[in-house]
Amino acid sequence: MLDDKPELAVIIQCEDVVKRCSGFLCMRDFYDKAGKFEGYSDETRYMTITCGGCCGNLLTPKLENLGMRLRKENMSKDDVVIHFASCVCSDNAHRQPCPFMNRMKALLIRKGFKNIVLGTHISQKAQAKRDAGIYRQWE
Ligand code: SF4
Ligand code: SF4
Repeated sequence: MLDDKPELAVIIQCEDVVKRCSGFLCMRDFYDKAGKFEGYSDETRYMTITCGGCCGNLLTPKLENLGMRLRKENMSKDDVVIHFASCVCSDNAHRQPCPFMNRMKALLIRKGFKNIVLGTHISQKAQAKRDAGIYRQWE
């Protein structure tokens, strides 16, 4: 997928977690091409949105707005990669994985966003807990 050099990476953050997390580590890893951002080109742009809150329904109008903006910029949805932030996909210091993630994935696909990646920043502490079986692995 990354051989296609996506033009835009969109990170979906948990509405609850962003009340406590600035998203700095996701941003840093994007620019450092670390974690789940390995392989991106320097030209790929970055933006974040939140899910809009449980149960993810408000993602729909956000995706429609994004689709409209892409059309106006002559960009295709195929040029976009959507990442669920790691704190959505896996146990982490803030909370358990999102119980609505698969539902939100289905919403993305229904709205035409097919390039979906689970995860963003990989915390070493969280990964150690996953490896030890304390945290659940990625879904
Ligand atoms: S993965 Fe980490 S840095 Fe990124 S939004 Fe979640 S808690 Fe914040
Ligand atoms: S739907 Fe999931 S990602 Fe969104 S606020 Fe609820 S738990 Fe967080």
